[in-house]
Amino acid sequence: MSRRLRSDSIPFGLLTQVADKASTGLVVLDARRRIVVWNEWMALHDAQIGADRIDLDFFEWCPQLRDSRIAEAIVGAIADGASSLLSPRLNDLPLPLYPFPRAAGAAAITVAAVVRGLEVGAERFCLVEFIDQTAIHRREQRLRDRNAELAETVYLDPLTGVYNRRRLDQFVVAEFRRAQRGGDPLAVLMIDVDFFKGYNDHYGHQEGDHCLRRIATLLRDNAQRVGDLVARYGGEEFVAVLPGTDLHGAATLAETLCQRVRESHMPHAASRIADHVTISVGVACVRPQRAEKVDTLLSAADFALYRAKATGRDRVVTFGPGA
Ligand code: GH3
Ligand code: MG
Ligand code: MG
Repeated sequence: MSRRLRSDSIPFGLLTQVADKASTGLVVLDARRRIVVWNEWMALHDAQIGADRIDLDFFEWCPQLRDSRIAEAIVGAIADGASSLLSPRLNDLPLPLYPFPRAAGAAAITVAAVVRGLEVGAERFCLVEFIDQTAIHRREQRLRDRNAELAETVYLDPLTGVYNRRRLDQFVVAEFRRAQRGGDPLAVLMIDVDFFKGYNDHYGHQEGDHCLRRIATLLRDNAQRVGDLVARYGGEEFVAVLPGTDLHGAATLAETLCQRVRESHMPHAASRIADHVTISVGVACVRPQRAEKVDTLLSAADFALYRAKATGRDRVVTFGPGA
C-alpha cells in the first residue's frame, strides 16, 4: 500500500527536514538551471562548506560540468522528464564534493549521479541526487590492483623472481611469430650453471638456492634491452630471449654474462674447472621462415649448450647462420 501524504497536508518544514536528513546530496534546479534546493548533505560536502548556493546557476557552481554527460542529463530531464543514472565508472564526474568531516588535503569523493525530471503545475524542475561511492570505488580499485599483481606472479619463478617457464613459452612463441612477420632475427641464450650438483652437495641446498637467486639477478640485470626476457627454464638452467638481436650481438651478450658470473667470485669448491661459480651458454639465432617452428630455435640453443659443456664449460658456443 502506498502511504503518501495528501498534497495539501504536507507542511513545508517537513519537506525541508526530509531533504536535510537524507544521506545523499539533493539538488533541485529550475528550468533555467538555477539551484532552488540544496540539502544539508550538499552544504556539508561542498568545497566551501555551508556556502549559500540557492539561486546560483548550477554550472557556475561547477563550470567543468558544462559539457559533461550530467549537463545532457539535466537538459533531458527538464525538457521531457527523462531520467539518467551516471555511474562514476563510466562517467568522470569532476565535482567539487569532499568528505565530511573534512581532513586537510582530502581528495574529492567519487559519486554516482541520478538525474530526474520534476513537474509542479506547468513548471519543470530537475532533481539531481549525488550518491557517495568512494568506498566502493576504492575497493574495486584495490581488487583490480590485486588481480593485476596476481596475474604477474603467475608468470614469475618464486625462487629467483625472474620469469618462469610458462611466461617463457608464451613469450618465445609470440616473438617467433613477430620475427616471422617482420623478417627480423630472434636470438636465444640457453644458460646452465656448471657443476651445480657438486655445488649443492658441497654447500647444501639452501646455499644452492641462494646462488641461483644471485645468478638470476645478474642475468636479468645484464640482459635488459627493451624486449629482452630472462626466464628460469628449470633447475639451474635459464633462458634469455633477445628479439631483434643477431647471432653476433647475442654471442657478445653471452660472453658478458659469463664474465659477470666469473667476476661475482662466488666460491665453488666442487667445480672441476675453477674455484668460483661459472656458467656455460649456448647461443642460437634465426630469421624464421614461414614454415619454421620455434622448437628448432630452442633445440639449436640446447645443442650449442651441449657443445659448450663438452668442450670444457665456462664458455659460449654459438649455433646458427654465421656461426
Ligand atoms: P653441468 O656442469 O654438466 O651442468 O653439471 P651440473 O652438476 O650442473 O648438472 P646436473 O644436471 O647433473 O645437475 C644440476 C643440479 O642442479 C641438480 C640439482 O642438485 C641442482 N638443482 C636443480 N634445481 C635446483 C634448485 O631449485 N635449487 C638448488 N639448490 N639446486 C637445484
Ligand atoms: Mg642443467
Ligand atoms: Mg649444470
